[in-house]
Amino acid sequence: MTAMSFTTTPFGDVTLKSITRNIAVLDLDNCISNDGWRQKLIDHTQPFVDDRYARYHAGCESDVYENGETVRFLQARYEIIIFTARPELMRAKTARWLNRWRVPVAGVLMRPQDNRESSPELKRSMLRSLPFISRISAAYDDRDDVLKMYQEEQIPLIHKLEVRKEK
Ligand SMILES: [Mg+2]
Repeated sequence: MTAMSFTTTPFGDVTLKSITRNIAVLDLDNCISNDGWRQKLIDHTQPFVDDRYARYHAGCESDVYENGETVRFLQARYEIIIFTARPELMRAKTARWLNRWRVPVAGVLMRPQDNRESSPELKRSMLRSLPFISRISAAYDDRDDVLKMYQEEQIPLIHKLEVRKEK
């Protein structure tokens, strides 16, 4: 029998099925969730960032799933933890979307309400909130600034992963 491990962080809970398996962290938007169609929902006329992105985030459940072959590669080797800058308010939509596409995750770490950190700093905080950071072997994201942060944090395998771009 394998021991499970349960961890609570300020960004969400993580339940690892095994205490020995290595971990991969994986982004959502523009990485496995194609958010291209909802970029136009960002309202740049809104002075407050929450209002600017409200409709963009609210549409997340309708994104097309991409890079499933990479997810299958990861699920065979690692426990997957999602690191996303999506706000906590989108947790239910995000969980339904992951379930619909059968993406097996040990946890979904999200931006807490009223958190205004940049994506790299937010994800650095997520990384450091985990007690088993030494078991995180791989990190996948579409953003170079986030990948640079993973490199600074000495994650061994760092991969840029993006959805297909419309021509
Ligand atoms: Mg992204």
